Amino acid sequence: MDHTATTPTSPEVLKAMMPYFGEMFGNPSSVYSFSRQSRTAIEKARGQVAHALNADPSEIFFTGSGTEADNWALKGTLEKAKLKGKNHLITTSIEHHAILHSAEFLEAYEGVDVTYLPVDSEGFVKVEDVAAAITDKTALVSVMFANNEVGTIEPIAEIGALCRERKIPFHTDAVQAAAHLNIDVKAMNIDMLSMSAHKMYGPKGVGALYMKKGTRTENFIHGGAQERKHRASTENIAGIVGFGEAMEILKSRLDEDKAINSARRDKLIAGILEKIPHAKLNGATGDKRLPNNINFSFIGVEGETLLLDLDSKGISASTGSACSSESLDPSHVLLALGLKHEMAHGSLRFTIGRLTTDEQIDYVLEVLPEIVARRRAMSPLWEDYLKSKGEL
Ligand code: PLP
Repeated sequence: MDHTATTPTSPEVLKAMMPYFGEMFGNPSSVYSFSRQSRTAIEKARGQVAHALNADPSEIFFTGSGTEADNWALKGTLEKAKLKGKNHLITTSIEHHAILHSAEFLEAYEGVDVTYLPVDSEGFVKVEDVAAAITDKTALVSVMFANNEVGTIEPIAEIGALCRERKIPFHTDAVQAAAHLNIDVKAMNIDMLSMSAHKMYGPKGVGALYMKKGTRTENFIHGGAQERKHRASTENIAGIVGFGEAMEILKSRLDEDKAINSARRDKLIAGILEKIPHAKLNGATGDKRLPNNINFSFIGVEGETLLLDLDSKGISASTGSACSSESLDPSHVLLALGLKHEMAHGSLRFTIGRLTTDEQIDYVLEVLPEIVARRRAMSPLWEDYLKSKGEL
């Protein structure tokens, strides 16, 4: 129940990768024919990723992760824009830390002014807010495609159209969205887009940045001439091959997976609302929510406590982003949606996927209400809450 943190590398993907750990170990930069197999494999994967996005293969650059793609998009673009006297970045308050911490770095060390756009109570960015934030110093707009904690899908095509009209480069972090939604970078006017293989049944440690032809971005990793001189270091061939394969498989079953996941998601949401009093669904509903995301707050209980209780019953869930699970601060995303601290602390995220079964959904619905009720029975906060509602 935590497919957003990561997914298992699918057997077909692993099979495609295996030769590149063994007999096909040639360095793609070498000139002899043996190494050409590695080069060919990388170019095939580039084509597979490009095809899934309606991009040209020459616009795909492989990276070491989604985080690296995000860092590159922001730092590389702002670095280049500095030469033209532009130092303004527009992003949102609900981005993944790969974006937020890159933006904070740029503010602290590069003199960049950052506008963090607010979101509404379901997590939507307003296109009018993006428009109002643009100045003649704006070098980049970066708005995530879909949020990793609450699953809200942003109005990317509208923001893309606005940015194209105003001639501002537009980046989107699609690390989660690309695993569930059809993305057409041309139709959506996207200039840069980040992805990560391990969120879509590919291997860990490989991502990609799509950069529309003509995008002006400084390199992020300097060194050799790999990735057409834009991203140095000997390629992670097996990882790249796995990414390409994972993307092709994902695309071939995307609509089917979306329908299955959405039905299970809605069943779990409806079941929780029915069985657990005062449960609050965080994020949007229907088509505006990632098909695999379920995020609730249960007033009176700590999300972390629920995670441990669920774990003892064999259920792996999360309170939000895996990357911030070691911090006890409430989620910045839930606070941005306007949740009070005590509600943000009581949040729980289930993210379903290919490993999920109907029986597992039923099992969660059997176990969770009991766990929440038991924890609430011990909680002074819950008692106060009931009193405030006149229910005690
Ligand atoms: N962006 C988003 C929205 C994410 O959810 C994640 C990972 O959870 C990342 C970026 C980072 O991707 P990676 O794990 O490949 O570095």
